[in-house]
Amino acid sequence: MWDVVVVGAGPAGAAAALAARRAGAPRVLLLDRYDFPRDKACGDGIAAHAVDVLGELGVTGVVDGYAPVPALRLVGPGGGVVARELPRPAYTVPREVFDARLVAAAVAAGAELRRHTVRHLDVRADRVVLDGQVSGRAVVGADGAGSVVRRALGHPVNPDRHLALAIRGYAPARPGPPEQLIVTSAARWPAYAWSFPIGDGRANVGYGEVLRGEPLTRAHLLDRLAALLPETDPAAATGLRAHHLPLSTWRPAPGRGRLVLAGDALSLINPFTGEGIFYALLSGALAGAAAAGSPERAGARYTADLRRRLGRHLRHSSTAAWLARRRPVVDAAVRAARRDPRVYATVVELGLGDGRLDARTLAMIGVGLSAWDRPPRH
Ligand SMILES: Cc1cc2nc3c(=O)[nH]c(=O)nc-3n(C[C@H](O)[C@H](O)[C@H](O)COP(=O)(O)OP(=O)(O)OC[C@H]3O[C@@H](n4cnc5c(N)ncnc54)[C@H](O)[C@@H]3O)c2cc1C
Repeated sequence: MWDVVVVGAGPAGAAAALAARRAGAPRVLLLDRYDFPRDKACGDGIAAHAVDVLGELGVTGVVDGYAPVPALRLVGPGGGVVARELPRPAYTVPREVFDARLVAAAVAAGAELRRHTVRHLDVRADRVVLDGQVSGRAVVGADGAGSVVRRALGHPVNPDRHLALAIRGYAPARPGPPEQLIVTSAARWPAYAWSFPIGDGRANVGYGEVLRGEPLTRAHLLDRLAALLPETDPAAATGLRAHHLPLSTWRPAPGRGRLVLAGDALSLINPFTGEGIFYALLSGALAGAAAAGSPERAGARYTADLRRRLGRHLRHSSTAAWLARRRPVVDAAVRAARRDPRVYATVVELGLGDGRLDARTLAMIGVGLSAWDRPPRH
């Protein structure tokens, strides 16, 4: 019997396997339906916070060979712009490279990697049996947006308004110094396009929007991409792929008994930025440690650990996302972030890491909103 079986070897699964090994689990099995390296539809944006979590797991060198991206340019839905240096640089590392590095680190730490598509889980008193073949004392479901483990726990997929769809591709990078570009869109709000330079002459470009009950076609996503990034010709982009993003504004219970969920399987994607890699690594690490340390009550321990580490941030980012459903709030936030570097830092921490809303930011947005509403004096 395996001590910990991890389903899915993306960032959440690799971090879970690493953490389980570090917590002393002798036998850790990492399953994925694909061989690595494999592609994953993503913006490839790696926040500094993600690199921090990996450092805590003893993994270094994950962004080696990729130039830091020191700045972020954010265009509000009303057209206002804030462009500033990021508090800490981000990176753009294609997931084909990034995920393979993480999996290699998990294997080097002693996890066993096998190619296997999990279809069925049987939870028994002393173990979980997967597909009648593999038994684990505890199982981490890190199998992404269409998680089988989540379904086994009885949780449906996120409903509309809490689920987004995005397409990404690779195109020539914009001229000029490297910066992350995010262009939000008044049409179809909440929606935005991005261009993240990789450092090799290409950029990861994409467009996503929150689902509202109507199916979104590939042609629609590409039209919107072209409208928001006019210098990008989607027809010339390579590697175009779309994927769902379960947003953290709607999350199932993190686990029960011997089963726990991490990353996208737990709907841990930031509702503003679509960032999920930092959350996947952090939740994966907590899930792996809980599964290794107390397999029979992994769910309870993990739920408490996750609440302690991310609970307040998730409450704040959900509140901020609710406020941001009104476009003028976002325009006011862009204006405030342009005026005040501290507001900018708060907005970035909320979108890329584990930051919180603060009184100064709320006050500046509020003042900006009322000033904007006031009719001009003649
Ligand atoms: C277009 C797009 C752009 C994005 N841009 C960014 C960005 O720039 N920065 C950022 O931080 N986040 C971004 N995200 C979010 C990010 O991609 C995810 O949050 C992240 O990949 C979550 O990691 P994960 O390990 O939970 O899941 P995944 O990365 O999806 O990994 C899940 C793994 O499970 C495997 N698997 C699935 N089902 C099974 C099964 N039944 N059996 C065995 N294996 C299985 C899959 O093969 C996969 O390897 C973006 C998402 C999209 C769609």
